[in-house]
Formats: sequence, C-alpha cells, structure tokens
Amino acid sequence: MLYSLIANAYEKIEATTKRLEMTDYLVELIKNTPKHIIDKVVYLTIGELYPPFEGVELGIAEKLAIHAISSVTGKTEKAILDDYQNTGDLGTTVEKFITKKTQATFFRQPLTVEGVYDTFAKIARSTGGGAQETKIRLLSSLLNDASPKEAKYIIRMITGRLRIGIADMTVLDALAVAYGGGKKFREEIERAYNLTSDLGYVAKTVAEEGLGAVEHFKIAVGKPIRPMLAERLSSSQEILAKMGGKGVAEYKYDGLRLQAHISPKSIQLYSRRIENLTDQFPDVVRALREAIVAKEAIVEGEAVGVDPDTGEMLPFQMVSHRRGRKYEIESTAKEIPITLFLFDALYVNGKDYTMEQYPERRRELQKIVKPTDHVKIAEQIITSDPSKLDEYMDQAIADGCEGLMVKDLGPESFYTAGARQFKWIKYKREYKSEMADAVDLVVVGAFAGRGRRAGSYGALLMAAYDHESDMFKTVCKLGSGFTDEDLANMPKMFAQYKIPHVHARIDSKIKADVWFVPTVVLEVIGAELTLSPSHTTGWNAIKKGAGLAIRFPRFTGNWRKDRAPEDATTVDEIIKMYNRQLKKIEVEPKIA
Ligand code: AMP
Repeated sequence: MLYSLIANAYEKIEATTKRLEMTDYLVELIKNTPKHIIDKVVYLTIGELYPPFEGVELGIAEKLAIHAISSVTGKTEKAILDDYQNTGDLGTTVEKFITKKTQATFFRQPLTVEGVYDTFAKIARSTGGGAQETKIRLLSSLLNDASPKEAKYIIRMITGRLRIGIADMTVLDALAVAYGGGKKFREEIERAYNLTSDLGYVAKTVAEEGLGAVEHFKIAVGKPIRPMLAERLSSSQEILAKMGGKGVAEYKYDGLRLQAHISPKSIQLYSRRIENLTDQFPDVVRALREAIVAKEAIVEGEAVGVDPDTGEMLPFQMVSHRRGRKYEIESTAKEIPITLFLFDALYVNGKDYTMEQYPERRRELQKIVKPTDHVKIAEQIITSDPSKLDEYMDQAIADGCEGLMVKDLGPESFYTAGARQFKWIKYKREYKSEMADAVDLVVVGAFAGRGRRAGSYGALLMAAYDHESDMFKTVCKLGSGFTDEDLANMPKMFAQYKIPHVHARIDSKIKADVWFVPTVVLEVIGAELTLSPSHTTGWNAIKKGAGLAIRFPRFTGNWRKDRAPEDATTVDEIIKMYNRQLKKIEVEPKIA
C-alpha cells in the first residue's frame, strides 16, 4: 500500500470541519487498506505505532529531526529553525523545503505504508550508543523518498505532533461503517475495544474475521481493560436511592489506580489511562507476587503512599511523586512505600468475571488475596441507611481517604469496562477546612511503633483542651515530623508520665497502647480540619455523632516546654478554626 494514500487521506481529514466528513474519509482509507496491515494503518492514524500500553515511544527530539531535514534538503539547520519559528510546525517547514531537486532522485523509491511503519518501528526501538545517528540516518532515508506532503506527515508523526484530530471513538465509528455496514455496529466493536484497549488488534480481528468475532471477544492477561468509571452525587440519600436503597460503601483511597495483570511469568501494571507503569513500581510487583495466590489474575486497586513508620496513609501528592520516574526508583520506593488497596477482580485462573455481579467479584478477590502490609483489600460496609453512610464517610476522611465509593450490588452490577454509570457513585465532600495556623496539643497516649520505629512509639495520641469540662479531647494521631533522635528518646522521655489506664481527664474513643498524664505540649500543623467519628474534639458541635480531627498532622519541631497542658489550643478554638476556614472544594481536581 502506498504511503501517499495515507498522506492524502490525512490532508482531507485535516481540512474538514465536520466530524461526519472526517469519519467518511477515514472509512475510505480503511476500505483502501489491505486487511493484513489494517492494524498498522489504525495505529499510525492515531499517532502511535503500537497500543499505548506497550510503552514504546516514537517521538524523537526536534533537534534530530531538523538535523535529518538539513541533510536531505541541503538547507542549513539555522534556516530550517528560522522557518520553523515562523510556521510553528516543522511539518509545514519540511513540506516547503523538500523538492524533487533537493532529493537524491536517482535512488528515490515510492514509499509504502509497510516501509514507513517498519522504519518508524526501527527508530523507536533503537537505543543505546549510536542510537542518535541511527535515528537520523533512518529518518533521512524516509525523507529522501518522500513527496513534500508525505514528508510533512512523517515529520509530524516522528516528532509526536500528528494531531489530525482522530480520536479512538472516531476510529470505532469508521470501523463499524467500513466492516459492519453502519454505525449501529459501533457498540459491539466498542465493547471489544473496552475489553482490550487495543484499537489495532480490534480492527484486525474485525477485518479478518468479521463482526461475529467481536461478540466472543475475551479479556486477556496482558491486554489492559478500560477501567469502569464512577458518577458523582453529593448526598447520601440520593446515592442510596440511585442504588435501589442499598449499596456497598467503600473507602475511596486517594492514590493512583492500578490494574494488575498477573501471570506465572510476569506482572504488569497499567494506569487508568492505560499506560504501562510496571517499571515505576517494582515494589508493588513484588508485593503482588507475595499476596496473590491465584496463578493468573487481573485485579484492580488504588496505590496509596503510606508512612513507613506509622502505617498512616499519605496525601495523593506522595504517590504521584513516584510516577513518571526514570531514576532512583528503588530508593524512592523505600522513602514512599505503597500499599495497594484492591477493590475488584476481573479475571481469575481462566475465568472472566466482568459479567459477574459485584459481590461475587469481591468474594473471588478475597479468595485470592492473602493481605500483607503492602496489599490489602478495600474497607467496606453494606448499608441502606444514609446516616450510616455519612458516618462512614467521616471515618474514611479522617483515615486519610478522599471519601467513599458507593457501589451497586444488585443483579446488574457487572464490571462495565470503559463506561461511566451510576453503578459506582463517588461521594466526596463539598467543603473542606484548611488549616492555616499551627496548634498546640497535649500528648495523652501513644501507639507502639513498627518497622524503623519498633521498640519506640509509632505515633502519639494528641488532644485539645476543653475549658468547660476541664477535659482533654483527642484530635489526631501524630506520627510525622519527628527526628530520629526524638523517636529514640521518646519512651524514656515519657516514662515519667506513663499510667496503666486512661487518665480521668482524657476523653477518647480511641484505645492507645500507652496512656499518659496530660503534661507535654507540642506544636502541630496539619493539612485541614475534618469531621471524624473517632475523635472527641468538638463532638456534636458541627455534626451529630462526629467530632473534629486534624488530617495529615505534622510536628513542627517546637516542643512547647513553656506551656502547661491547660494552655494548649482549646476545643472552642478548633471549632472556630473549622468554621472560619470552610471552603468549597474544587470539583475534579486531579487526573490520575
Ligand atoms: P475520580 O478519580 O474522582 O473520578 O474517582 C474514581 C477513582 O477513585 C477510581 O478511578 C479509582 O482510582 C479511585 N478509587 C479509590 N478507591 C476506590 C474504590 N474503593 N473503588 C473504586 N475506585 C476507587
């Protein structure tokens, strides 16, 4: 197949402003393509060489492209760069500079799609010493054989700027028309795509085996499934009503969604946008190897950064800090260890579970996971009571989560790959209360440390002072911000305040491992104040059945030796801080 066919089609597609026309040109291109290379044509048209989850990047630096253009056209690199700065598109520049005269006409051969594709693939895969020269040589050979128009698209493709505006859904439409006879077949083709995330593979299957093949499309280990998505509602009544009165409320962990494909040979991790993240999370791979007892499985979960010393969950930023890294992967994994909270099982030992109801998938998940510190199963309750849901929401937030994910458990509760429906509803807060100021809190108890902190304390139980009742009311567990020296000294330092039972002036719903006479005051700063069913500061003041807690608290380093426990920040002050700083949360702040 001649590459000029592709270049002509791209030009027409680019020129039209109507989506229908765009699809028509794409249909024409697909119909003109021999079936055995339809996958290649589809990948090229969306600016790729392989399905995105294979993680092979074609893009070469513009500098190299300019070098190749210069060697083929005889123009100086400066002249090319000057023109490029004017046009803003290296494709337009090369189209202008390439003429028959500039090329070595004697050796020119018409470009074929297969030839262009294979050369692109060689460019993408050449790495290591001498790779740059190889890439330039390969690109130059393509440009030498290209017409000006072909050169334009080759350069755009190679620099990662094809941008003819064909999205995956347009390709699905075009495939439905070209091979199925109409857009009404799009749904079936889309399903196949949702189960494999591989447009080229779907196109080739439909082209060679007909639409019937798509009906029996199966999920497979190693081909990421497009993730099921959630709708959003903002009241517990509404959410439960949508679920037919009853739902599973699960912690909505604030991290990075991972889909793990496990086989005896390998474990692959894919992001929500189907990128392959395996190399960035070797610790997660090892943890899954230990925790999953099935031979083959596809499971989904949320990867959350966890404080190695206290076991407390860290804010989202910490896990996103680990993503996209090329260097120091293992050392960052030690600094920010991850716990994967699994929430779904889509495939186990040869059986596809996507068409099973959610309770069945969860049962299967529980069967194949042996929970460890680094792989756990998502916390959940089943409820039909909106106030229970609200209470659970407060608890989730105080535990470092973003809110709840409420899930349907009825007969229709399949895993709907790639679709956003009301079978999953996210329930996040509308408001949050940021903490601008540090507070002084009293140490009332402690929790045994683990890991590096074994033998010392992992976290302290902190309280505010309630003037009215003359009691200390708990407001957070504090584990961050201490130096190694502080940590080592803590048991000795607090030994004099240790008592065998909770002190009569401490009001706590949490059971500490060690109790103290309220004496020592520390300065603490946190990310925000939040409602909590576990802490007693401000109990019932803002909401019935909830107190206030500090989320992600941190010791500032300031031991308030000058303060008596009664000089600590009061419960009233904390309630005021909560009210004063209440602010609406932006909707959908992150893409993960
Ligand atoms: P959002 O990103 O706000 O649209 O919320 C959906 C995301 O929440 C999912 O893609 C997951 O990454 C994440 N998530 C956290 N916990 C859960 C859970 N228990 N079930 C499903 N998704 C979860």
